[in-house]
Amino acid sequence: MAKSFTLAIYPWVYSAKFDGTWREEFAKQRHLSAEAEAALPDEERERLYLERNRFEQLPLINFTTQYGLACFEGLKAFPQPDGSLSLFRPFDNGLRMARSMEGLIMPSFPADTFVRAVQQVVERNRTLGFTPAYDPAWEAADFVTADTVYIRPFSYAESGIGVDLSVSPWVIIINTTVGSYFSPDGDASTTTTRRVRATPGGTGWIKCSGNYVISALAKKEAEAAGCMEAIFLDSAEHRYLEEGSSCNLFAVLSDDTLVTPSLGDTILPGITRRSVMTLAEEQGMTVQERRLPVEEVLDDAVEFFGTGTAAGVAHFGSLTHEGRTATFGDGKIGPRALHFLRQLKGIQFGRLPDRHGWMAPGGGLTAGRRSSPGAAKR
Ligand code: PMP
Repeated sequence: MAKSFTLAIYPWVYSAKFDGTWREEFAKQRHLSAEAEAALPDEERERLYLERNRFEQLPLINFTTQYGLACFEGLKAFPQPDGSLSLFRPFDNGLRMARSMEGLIMPSFPADTFVRAVQQVVERNRTLGFTPAYDPAWEAADFVTADTVYIRPFSYAESGIGVDLSVSPWVIIINTTVGSYFSPDGDASTTTTRRVRATPGGTGWIKCSGNYVISALAKKEAEAAGCMEAIFLDSAEHRYLEEGSSCNLFAVLSDDTLVTPSLGDTILPGITRRSVMTLAEEQGMTVQERRLPVEEVLDDAVEFFGTGTAAGVAHFGSLTHEGRTATFGDGKIGPRALHFLRQLKGIQFGRLPDRHGWMAPGGGLTAGRRSSPGAAKR
């Protein structure tokens, strides 16, 4: 599809509104065939995409747009060689969404309803011909260039102008195609930021919208300094690694130990993080969840990488902290990160056996296997 300036949301949108029970609806927004849309002049296609990114039911003034009272999820459906789509650990995203809503003291959306809604909306969009198809050419570059269906569920609060909580939220689910998040050949340098993403007693442990303001500022500043990603340190001592702007962090130390910052109430419990820990244990690696001082990474790490649904397994070539820069290996992806990336993508794109029961059908009405419910827990 030709490059567009605007988000190309697929036609089918799921919504549920809470008024004592969750009332579900599927809305089909205006569309042509996927091929006809691709053939439109840029401006016309742009107008259509803009129109599809509107949802009349949602009020202008509400606790979400005014006070950032909202949470969301991000997960993907992966094109499979047999033409179907598969979801990666959707139940874990459903659990985390439910926990985020509880954290914001709003009615929580049940995880199994979440999984069913995700499957149904993806299936509807697949039936309309909007989802990408498996391309064997992706295999040569370890699927780094592959397209997937990005699924974005989010909450949205009811009308209100005073600072308040939501008692009658919506949950909306949209789909769109995404490619890779970090450019595979991009400069993979990182820098710590002085900004604080999350504080003890705050909302860092849930996926709420407000958390991403600081992330976006820090990431822009890191990019302006020529880096790919900003690395957050703890708020009290500015010494221990926490997260990237939207990914969890891992270091491989010189003795081959894999270390990731332990979860507290300032770190988002990533589903990719949990999966990489499982893959590392499977390899016989020692895996530690603990406080990870930035000096230890600078002095002793041989690999440094981030994990997330969008980021996948993204290696970081270097880390700069207060004027000091360490380069990891030759700055290119190291053997451990490459192994995790290949395993994860291989499983997700149906090229390796799904040994841990992580994958679920991306369409149709089957509930899918519930991947380890503890996985996204704090
Ligand atoms: N931390 C933050 C702040 C994030 O936004 C994300 C992306 N959801 C992650 C970590 C990684 O989480 P996951 O592996 O579940 O995508």
